[in-house]
Amino acid sequence: MPYESQLALSLSPYVAGEQPKGRTFIKLNTNENPYPPSPRVGKALNGLAESLRLYPDMEATGLKEAIAKVNGLSPDQVFCGNGSDEVLAFAFAAFFAGKRLLAPDVTYSFYPVYAQLFGVHYETVPLREDYSVDVDGLMQGAPVALANPNAPTGIFLPLPEIRKLAEHCRKNDAVLLVDEAYAAFAPETAVSLLKEFDNLLIVCTFSKSHALAGMRVGYALGNLRLIDALRRVRDSFNSYPVDRLAQAAAEAAVLDTEYTEQSTRRIVAARDKCREALLEAGIQVLPSATNFLFVRADETDAAPVQQALRNEGILVRHFTAPRLKPWLRVTVGTEEDMEKVTEALIRLILGK
Ligand code: PMP
Repeated sequence: MPYESQLALSLSPYVAGEQPKGRTFIKLNTNENPYPPSPRVGKALNGLAESLRLYPDMEATGLKEAIAKVNGLSPDQVFCGNGSDEVLAFAFAAFFAGKRLLAPDVTYSFYPVYAQLFGVHYETVPLREDYSVDVDGLMQGAPVALANPNAPTGIFLPLPEIRKLAEHCRKNDAVLLVDEAYAAFAPETAVSLLKEFDNLLIVCTFSKSHALAGMRVGYALGNLRLIDALRRVRDSFNSYPVDRLAQAAAEAAVLDTEYTEQSTRRIVAARDKCREALLEAGIQVLPSATNFLFVRADETDAAPVQQALRNEGILVRHFTAPRLKPWLRVTVGTEEDMEKVTEALIRLILGK
């Protein structure tokens, strides 16, 4: 008998983007924010060391109130976790374990990993020819998980499509999970649909728009029954997933809406400028409603372009799944980063 459980041996864990040590790179490989978090975050963290001898508030009450206020919801429609990855994991356990779950074939690659961990029967529906999510294909009477905007394509599904899917899922007593990790960079969010749909769970993160990837805070928005199910899973795993520093930092960040809107606008402008320059050069780039661009860097395999960029000190992400292989996912950095990566991509892809 091996030491490991059958479960541990059977897992195919998620592989995160490289976090380099030593050499300084222009780091455009893990969709981090190029700007620091709100200056209010530093102030909120000051003097908290003494309080760390006590366990945190397990309900993250102050943070939940702040998130609720900014989203026009009630605090009991909010659930906070240690990064949205953890919130997603809890949601897979709470709503999909032992069930059939549908997801687009190209989406956040953590979903099939959670599915395996929690015994979810995960089935995929291919993206359409233009890389958009096939909403009609996902309507098969089972729960659905999707990222909107999608990752790593960056393509955004308009609200009427989400509504159609939510309606279909509700008719079948199924939860629709919409992962809005990148929604701050998109034209709209599905939060307004929460009034209509008690089966809709929206998952969000502080890692991208709020520049707190190093703090690990994520949250879910949904009806009380869904939030309660998440709480049941949390309290069967770790009652205190969001520590005191994270609660204070995230609360300060979420309330500084002006700062977030400003840095988001800057990122969106740099994104659109880079995309236009690449398109003008004749390079295919999918439309993006996120803080990254999906760039076709080769006919068959973009790995050599990724390596050439790395040699020049620029990190971007490459995925090896067959349909994704010709593409690179480029996180939107500062204006200066984007000038450098735009020039390098045009030169390396077109040989100019
Ligand atoms: N959802 C999507 C679609 C993502 O790309 C990411 C970032 N890897 C996450 C969720 C997780 O973000 P975090 O755990 O940092 O909140």
